[in-house]
Amino acid sequence: MSFKNISCQNRIVELFKNVIANSRLSHAYIFTGQEGVGKTVFSRELAKAVFCQRPGPDACDTCNTCQRIDNNNYSDLFLISPEKNSRVIKIDQLKYLQEVLNVKPLESKYKMVIIQSADRMNEASSNCLLKTLEEPPGYAHIILIATSLESVKDTIRSRCQIIRFSPLSIPVVKDILINNLHLEHKQAERLAFISNGSVERAALLSDSGALEKKNWLVDHLLTLKPDDNLTFSKELISEWHIQDIDVLEEKRAFVKELLFSFLLYYRDLLVCKIGVCNLPVYHTDWRDTLLSKSASFSEDMLFQIVHIIKTSLEYLDANANINLLLENMITKILQLQFGKFVYGHD
Ligand SMILES: [Zn+2]
Repeated sequence: MSFKNISCQNRIVELFKNVIANSRLSHAYIFTGQEGVGKTVFSRELAKAVFCQRPGPDACDTCNTCQRIDNNNYSDLFLISPEKNSRVIKIDQLKYLQEVLNVKPLESKYKMVIIQSADRMNEASSNCLLKTLEEPPGYAHIILIATSLESVKDTIRSRCQIIRFSPLSIPVVKDILINNLHLEHKQAERLAFISNGSVERAALLSDSGALEKKNWLVDHLLTLKPDDNLTFSKELISEWHIQDIDVLEEKRAFVKELLFSFLLYYRDLLVCKIGVCNLPVYHTDWRDTLLSKSASFSEDMLFQIVHIIKTSLEYLDANANINLLLENMITKILQLQFGKFVYGHD
């Protein structure tokens, strides 16, 4: 693989081809964007382009160096990620990184470090990394990969060039699911459709446990009663095991998935209500049930519910209390659904 195989990130590929051609690679970058849009894949291709034995702005993919990087076996490239069973990058890992960077490159002119999940660091780890970023050796290039830029310390952010990755298009996600994860055409199409441009989310949804949770949610949404708001949000938190997730960032990412599931359900009802025949329903197994259920909603009501969920997604990104956020959202949805209008209607 080389830059030519990076999907949908042409702007970033062109930027870095220029950077490499002009030998202007910065000492520190943050690659940010939602999970599953190719940040890690790109960083590895970038490393290959930088270290490749054949000069040029892209990797040749065939030289000894390119192949060793593909096999995680190149001494001037280091990858760091949270260790197994640890939710954060430990300070020891970053101290080791300092030591490694103090030794000059062994095989090339540069040393490159890719830090995955750089948004998962505690105070001590962040401070240790900061020290490295304050005075990097001239040959060092550090790439931080972070889904949530907000979770990276300001002092770290200000020392890095920030590169934002966009979501992938549906056909691109579908092709990756078929070619790399060997999913069937129809399943790949459906998952690409509901993944919001993230291969990782699509892969996650293909897991049967995730599907069970989604099915549980739809079953419950179909039978909600006016006074269910508190019991339903409590059940939801326990059934989706939200309280079991310790790291806030992971919890927030997980609840985001949950809110997307809400969004898909009401979006399906809206499609059934409006009767747009060329728009597919995500929950194909429930198509008939959703069609009859949609009769109890007005179009306006469904648009407002979608608005409530989208606003909740924004609050979630702004660090709102998760339990309260779910309770509030469900209360507002039920008020709308059962006739107590709250969004400026009588
Ligand atoms: Zn090469």
